[in-house]
Amino acid sequence: MSYTVINPATGETVTEVAHLDAADTDAAVAAAVTAQRAWAAVAPADRARVLRRFADAVDADVEHLARLETTNSGHPITQSRWEAGHVRDVLEYYSGAPERLIGQQIPVAGGMNVTFHEPLGVVGVITPWNFPMTIASWGFAPALAAGNAVVLKPAEWTPLTSIRLGELALEAGLPEGLFQVLPGRGSVVGERFVSHPDVRKLVFTGSTAVGKRIMAGCADQVKRVTLELGGKSANIVFADADIERAAATAPYSVFDNAGQDCCARSRLLVQRSVYDRFMAHFETAVQGVRVGDPLDETTEVGPLVTEAHRASVASFLTDDVPVAFRGSAPDGPGSWFAPTVVTPERGARVATEEIFGPVVAVLPFEDEADAIALANDTEFGLSGSIWTRDLGRGIRVARGVAGGNLSVNSHSSVRYTTPFGGFKQSGLGRELGPDAATHFTDTKNVFFASE
Ligand code: NAD
Repeated sequence: MSYTVINPATGETVTEVAHLDAADTDAAVAAAVTAQRAWAAVAPADRARVLRRFADAVDADVEHLARLETTNSGHPITQSRWEAGHVRDVLEYYSGAPERLIGQQIPVAGGMNVTFHEPLGVVGVITPWNFPMTIASWGFAPALAAGNAVVLKPAEWTPLTSIRLGELALEAGLPEGLFQVLPGRGSVVGERFVSHPDVRKLVFTGSTAVGKRIMAGCADQVKRVTLELGGKSANIVFADADIERAAATAPYSVFDNAGQDCCARSRLLVQRSVYDRFMAHFETAVQGVRVGDPLDETTEVGPLVTEAHRASVASFLTDDVPVAFRGSAPDGPGSWFAPTVVTPERGARVATEEIFGPVVAVLPFEDEADAIALANDTEFGLSGSIWTRDLGRGIRVARGVAGGNLSVNSHSSVRYTTPFGGFKQSGLGRELGPDAATHFTDTKNVFFASE
């Protein structure tokens, strides 16, 4: 079994990637078990040093990794460079963790009580195709720092940069078997991670449907699980906002990475009193988005990841969906899709389901209470933006919207120094931030009697 990687910008074949089967997965997990025992016994400062060397190896390979991602996934080259640099930064950040996994000394009678953060063992990381290397690093960097081994299964469509990261880890001196990249099908390698008794935690990023299945499977062994799932996040623009700035930035909050972003603000809620003014500025901004050859340094948005995904995105735009306006996209080979702005009714499919492409649904709202209710009228709760000049309103709405990652007067959502994850059916647990390494440990309490 194998998968043929196609460059989504040209339709040309890039390479063939062999898929592992369940027996290969078992062999990899067995090697990981052995490697993890030795790794957990390495002095914290030495573990930190090895992770810093891994970060250095990624740093030296940024341009290569970036070109690989652009060829495999169609990401604009400037964005791919950022992603590779982000992997380096995440590794550097968590290289500080081995020496900072600090337990507690708790006052008790008759002795001394201390806690330890013990590694879990082997951690399975399953990634989606939209941000292959960054999302992988959010799992493997803190997991390795906490003394675990990692087996990583990349998405079928986008395995190339993960495979390269596996090579760089070995070149940097990570012990054999400690970090292994296992390309294969979700139903084979991924499911084996769920059922294998020696995989003690799963970090899954992907669709809500598959995430639920994985959570149910993990229950059988009380396996730890972190889920980063889908979204249908709202960008809320109040009448008192800087309307020009809100309109100029809105396209990038949903069309970046061609809308293939779990944090995409794919619902744009605009207060009715400024709706027409906002839409006029927004149309100009959407027309200005540069969609094209991802190797061009000035390109802002590339193609969709595959032809199959392009068809899936297109299937949402049935004849009854009102299209307000579109941006541009190249003709010819490649999975191109022009940024599309639709103005549906509140309950319409395009306004409620995750499309995962460059399509935004604009919905008017009346007042603050209506905006919060509309933003929360979804099973998801991942991210969102609030545009207002009123500080009190910014605070009230940020507290009122049920989402894990909100920003006021900006669209920022991911920083490796701050926690990331979803409310409701957008996920379970948090990645990144100062506490992530401890999420890959179990707390052990030990009492030493003094009498
Ligand atoms: P997907 O669920 O189809 O696949 C994700 C991964 O799971 C792939 O590696 C796939 O091979 C594997 N998989 C599939 N079936 C499996 C099974 N039965 N057991 C184990 N593994 C299995 O998702 P996708 O289409 O690759 O990614 C898009 C989705 O990911 C979107 O819903 C998006 O919102 C979500 N996403 C969420 C975040 C976040 O942080 N919350 C980030 C990126 C993407």
